[in-house]
Amino acid sequence: MKCSQCGGVDFETPAEHSALEIWTCEGCGSEMAVHCHYLPDISGFPKQDWFAGKFLVGGRANAAKSYLKLKRLLNGCERFDPSRLEKQFLSGALEWDLGLFPDFEVERLTSESTATGIQIEFDKVPE
Ligand SMILES: [Zn+2]
Repeated sequence: MKCSQCGGVDFETPAEHSALEIWTCEGCGSEMAVHCHYLPDISGFPKQDWFAGKFLVGGRANAAKSYLKLKRLLNGCERFDPSRLEKQFLSGALEWDLGLFPDFEVERLTSESTATGIQIEFDKVPE
């Protein structure tokens, strides 16, 4: 960052950070508007818990039906990867790793999965 007037590189900057700051050149005193990209301070936010989702198929006969139900149920989840689920379904595995889910999704999925007769097991990921 250089002063557009005198080419100086020393500036007086505001004590409080903001997205748009007025910097004053120490060489010639001209003021410039500077767009700043500070990382937001997220230390005050509650930490999110993550859970690993697992589904036990419980027999090849139910696999296709369960697969379709799961796909619909998990659609829209942040980390859900449908192609990964499909691979496990096609491979004939009887235990499907569904990936990771944040706590608020687990809450929703637990109630919805009970309603659709799908039992997903969630294990809290150790921090
Ligand atoms: Zn200057």
